[in-house]
Amino acid sequence: MKYQCHLKSIISIDKYLRVFVETNSLGIFLPKIIVSSSIAISLPICNYSYIKARDFEKNGKSLIRLPIRVALKCLSLKRDKNALNFVINSIESFENDIEVICSFKFIQALQSNDIELLSKIPKSDLHNHVALGGSRKIIKELSKKIIPPLSIRFKSISEMNEWCESNVKQPNDYETRVRAAFMQARRDGIKIFTPSIAVFVKNNISTVDYFTGYIRSLIEEFSNDMKIYPELTLDREKYSNDLKDLVKKLLDTGFFYSIDLKGDEKLGENKFREIYSMAKNYGLICKAHVGEFADAKHIIEAIQTLNLDCVQHGISAISDNHVMEYLLRNNIPLTICPSSNYYLSRVSSIAKHPIRELYRFGINVSICSDDIAIFDSSVSNEYLTLFNNKVLNEYELNEIRIYGLNFYNN
Ligand SMILES: [Zn+2]
Repeated sequence: MKYQCHLKSIISIDKYLRVFVETNSLGIFLPKIIVSSSIAISLPICNYSYIKARDFEKNGKSLIRLPIRVALKCLSLKRDKNALNFVINSIESFENDIEVICSFKFIQALQSNDIELLSKIPKSDLHNHVALGGSRKIIKELSKKIIPPLSIRFKSISEMNEWCESNVKQPNDYETRVRAAFMQARRDGIKIFTPSIAVFVKNNISTVDYFTGYIRSLIEEFSNDMKIYPELTLDREKYSNDLKDLVKKLLDTGFFYSIDLKGDEKLGENKFREIYSMAKNYGLICKAHVGEFADAKHIIEAIQTLNLDCVQHGISAISDNHVMEYLLRNNIPLTICPSSNYYLSRVSSIAKHPIRELYRFGINVSICSDDIAIFDSSVSNEYLTLFNNKVLNEYELNEIRIYGLNFYNN
């Protein structure tokens, strides 16, 4: 009998592997699983099989394909009766498992280039500067402002900021733009949302209490549709002596889950060490924009200086194997924003985006939007663009999607 390779069709959910097989297929190929109890079952009436792989280790380099014969009429795999029982007992819940159904739909939506369907499938956005997180369409709906299409690629953040000042922002429109970001997340099926809120909004918000009250009201309004994990964002270029007190006051409100640092990477992170140490004591996830413009070594420096749990962008890691190994070993995930990287001239094309190698190396990545009001690409569109440019296949993208949905459970 000729075995077909279905390695590409493996998705993992939680601690289990779930493998799609073709209807009537009698054989599948599986990655070598370092576990004593693994078993597969194929049902002719369904187009999937199910595998328990308790200790499956993801290691792109050593996926050795191991043929396992599967036959419905004589369950010939007797290596582990417990695993077999587990599979049989799990079939019903598997059939009704909403995550499995969503995975099927997600894969189908990518294959059929269906952005509408993609936008209905649960996703995360873990890197969204909320003041610029709304789409052109929603901003126009809310404020009549027409943001022109982006016809150039920026060479720096300051160039982008200039463009943004003259093409996106209007006087006293901060709250409208923030609302647009929440509406955008809802319309795009974002179920795990990290609105990144810049601490320096003095021009837009009169007092800290007003500011926190406003954000709190948005969270209440949108929390039926998604889980919201607000992030407090600092700026390397806007350090001041009273910043620590302000951050403390904001953290005391209790609704921030993470802290982030953006701005010119050349300024380093030393000044923020104390604030990050305080944030850690508050139990926050510590993140920073690094490795977007700076070289790979700076990523490790920033991680060590600020005790980071997650890196925003971090794409320059691709140029240094040692840095990639460091991220992998220390389980530091990257929030990746492909269109942003393209329009800020960090990659020559989407097709050459390093997310492919970073992900296949084993580093955890999520796919995010950054600034939708500028780059005009929703999270759904980011997935579709990566798929259409053959950067990652649909199963890999689904695994990334699931990783993002579980980000706050890990
Ligand atoms: Zn960003």
